[in-house]
Amino acid sequence: MTATAPITQDVLTLPRKLPEGGRINIVGLTRDQLRDALIAAGTPDRQAKMRLGQIWQWVYHWGIRDFAAMTNLSKDYRALLDSHFTIDLPEVVDRQISADGTRKYLVRIAGGHEVETVYIPEENRGTLCISSQVGCTLTCSFCHTGTQKLVRNLTAGEIVGQVMLARDDLGEWPRPGEPKDETRLVSNVVLMGMGEPLYNFENVRDAMKVVMDHEGLTLSRRRITLSTSGIVPEIARTAEEIGCLLAVSFHATTDEVRDKLVPVNKKWNIETLLNALRDYPRLSNSERITFEYVMLKGVNDSDADARRLVKLIAGIPAKINLIPFNEWPGAPYQRSDWDRIEAFADIIYKAGYASPIRTPRGEDIMAACGQLKSATERARKSRAEIAAEAGIAG
Ligand code: SAH
Ligand code: SF4
Repeated sequence: MTATAPITQDVLTLPRKLPEGGRINIVGLTRDQLRDALIAAGTPDRQAKMRLGQIWQWVYHWGIRDFAAMTNLSKDYRALLDSHFTIDLPEVVDRQISADGTRKYLVRIAGGHEVETVYIPEENRGTLCISSQVGCTLTCSFCHTGTQKLVRNLTAGEIVGQVMLARDDLGEWPRPGEPKDETRLVSNVVLMGMGEPLYNFENVRDAMKVVMDHEGLTLSRRRITLSTSGIVPEIARTAEEIGCLLAVSFHATTDEVRDKLVPVNKKWNIETLLNALRDYPRLSNSERITFEYVMLKGVNDSDADARRLVKLIAGIPAKINLIPFNEWPGAPYQRSDWDRIEAFADIIYKAGYASPIRTPRGEDIMAACGQLKSATERARKSRAEIAAEAGIAG
């Protein structure tokens, strides 16, 4: 089935600006938005570009949150900024650290909702897994986030804010006068937390623009990976308007199984999805797409599945990331046995694809892929609802 128009989602998005008379949060505004806002606040047109560069440097390079500390601006201008703007991050209400060093932050956003952000330190890099929505409107039957009823889109500021709060916690902002430290603790960002990023396209795009900007948080577009369950109409736009790396939650090799695991497949099936993916590397000028494949015992993990997978993706520059299923309370699946995962990986590898098996990280604090769901969000689906959506009796 093909569909060209994005399906509308009944999701609340907060207005970007505060109501009349309120101050505007600078965090997450794109260059154009901030420039316009500075002019509206009384900055002369011809100075706006320079002021924007100065402010961005304080906010995103030095991590400064107080206009009074912006010493290269005049006192009057600092006061003007203070009366029109804020520099606000979402609040970290809880932080858990796993035995393996993974950190999970419970982050409170406007309206009292909560999302989770996870920092995963590795030998040569540190990956921050950020959320794009509270919960998710999609109901993938193996995903804990999909069982959360309440959903709201995060604003661009709340998305950028997750990167900044992690840098706060890790003590990563440079200090004036100290030698420049080139090691970045947050060296990579993955949009693999809660939510479907392509159902919150504009905010995710604007946030990534700030994260990628050479005067913003300066992470290169090749260090950002957006994971989607397969929202076909937004894939070409992602290439053109964001240009980051793409991961796709593939998870099955027949429409029959994928319909159950990733129900959005009923709208855009495997063939439609693959056609959209074929164009991505060229449009985004990136090397390859990551196919994520969660290993579910007896569901999608046979040798025949591995062989079908290889056939399906023929011609697409790809890497296949096998994710051992991470369990959560009430989950209707089990993780495939280790031998099975290795046998599956071997078939893919022999067909010429990299097939890394993702090591579960932070399982002891429920921070692994698909385990995120802010426990404090009370609206939950029952086990029966989860099972019914998965097409499983009981
Ligand atoms: N909504 C986006 C991004 C968030 S999920 C998407 O679906 O792609 C990030 C990855 O974790 C996806 O590949 C998702 O399918 C996978 N995942 C979800 N639940 C999981 C679980 N319980 N165990 C392992 N991986 C899971
Ligand atoms: Fe949403 Fe992704 Fe979870 Fe599916 S796997 S329910 S799209 S967060």
